[in-house]
Amino acid sequence: MMDYHVHTRLCNHASGDMAQYVACAVDRGLSEIGFLEHLTLHEQGRHLSMTPMDIPLYYYAARRLQAAVKGQIRIRVGLEVDFTPDLTAQAQEIAECFDFDMIGGSVHFIENRNLVSSRAGQNPGKQTDPDLFDRYLDLLDQMADCPFIDIVCHLDVIRKFGARPGENFYRKLDPILDKIAAQGKTVEINTSGLHHRTAHIYPDAQILAKCRDKNIAVCLGSDAHRPEQVGRDFDAALAQLTDAGYTHVAAFDRKTRRQIPLARITGGVNTVFEISKKPEESI
Ligand SMILES: [Zn+2]
Ligand SMILES: [Zn+2]
Repeated sequence: MMDYHVHTRLCNHASGDMAQYVACAVDRGLSEIGFLEHLTLHEQGRHLSMTPMDIPLYYYAARRLQAAVKGQIRIRVGLEVDFTPDLTAQAQEIAECFDFDMIGGSVHFIENRNLVSSRAGQNPGKQTDPDLFDRYLDLLDQMADCPFIDIVCHLDVIRKFGARPGENFYRKLDPILDKIAAQGKTVEINTSGLHHRTAHIYPDAQILAKCRDKNIAVCLGSDAHRPEQVGRDFDAALAQLTDAGYTHVAAFDRKTRRQIPLARITGGVNTVFEISKKPEESI
């Protein structure tokens, strides 16, 4: 089992260092752990991210740690790039300076509106705002064109605080999923949504079924912001994947994707976690 989306305190809003996340992953029987630390160039979110200057330290720390735990677990290292259209070239230049295993892309901001922070007071809340959904999809569509992004993270995170999209959202998402498929990108099965107000794994079952129809590869991510969250709720994620007809999950090694049969990775992780009553404050 592999968890391809964990953070560390380097992003200023997570706790624990790399060694603690790796220790938890080993404890839970994971075969791989992927650091996907935030790289946010958007000025509203820079304080909740590594800075570009932190990246050498981050990258080499992960590679050094791999040498220390050789034979116990594989450590992958990548970035969760905040998709910001006018800063894409800069993000790409930074991402290509290092031999990362995988680059994730996330839409966290619509212009200056932070969609994912419970503290920012700008999230969509429960109201359905068709215009906001459309603008979100427009950014997702542009992100699907970015050649350096391998993984589409938490694809419907706009629902984080309980906003419910209408049928239009799913209809307009369809050609974007076609593009994701054509570009060979991977969609992340992100279990953190179970702990947000929306209480579903990203993407929801309806979207996941479409991904399956379009033969889009998927990978697993907990979006852990604390070491004990590594591999959280992966039993639920695997059940959802199986229901959707998936038989493989993706793994990454220096930007090369492999497909691992689900039958080979199940049973090796303790994923029994309580869903907290109160949604977590997070970004
Ligand atoms: Zn994110
Ligand atoms: Zn975060």
